[in-house]
Amino acid sequence: MESDFFDIINEILCLEDDDLPNRLEEQNEALAGLKCTNPTLGKWFEKCTVSYVIAAFNLSEKDFAAQFPHLRHVTGDQRKEIVDSFRQHISECPRCGRRSSYDLEFEKKLEASLIKNKEVLRSHLSYDEPDQPTEENHKPELKAQSAHR
Ligand SMILES: [Zn+2]
Repeated sequence: MESDFFDIINEILCLEDDDLPNRLEEQNEALAGLKCTNPTLGKWFEKCTVSYVIAAFNLSEKDFAAQFPHLRHVTGDQRKEIVDSFRQHISECPRCGRRSSYDLEFEKKLEASLIKNKEVLRSHLSYDEPDQPTEENHKPELKAQSAHR
């Protein structure tokens, strides 16, 4: 179900902007030509977006420990310092700075697209299968919303 959701989002993004795959390819090539000045920090942004990493490090003590059990020993003060180091690094590093601006651009586009296509997404996300009454317990909100369409 999760992968379906991402397929749909991907489809919507590409429908709205048929140049997107090319641009992502170009961005990857541009990034490949830039060297990270501090790979210890930069490696965090290789798999996750910059805003995700910073948001993760800004989580509450409890949520952070739940999300990153192997980093449980890192205190809140240390995390603040790490976030500062991330921000500093992004402002200085050509590769991570570029990546950060690509991420922001993509997130803005994604958000606009989700808002614009929320009815489409909602219809994909709601389960209108009366044969499976158990679904109602799992998705009460989506049920209620789709009923008012
Ligand atoms: Zn970097």
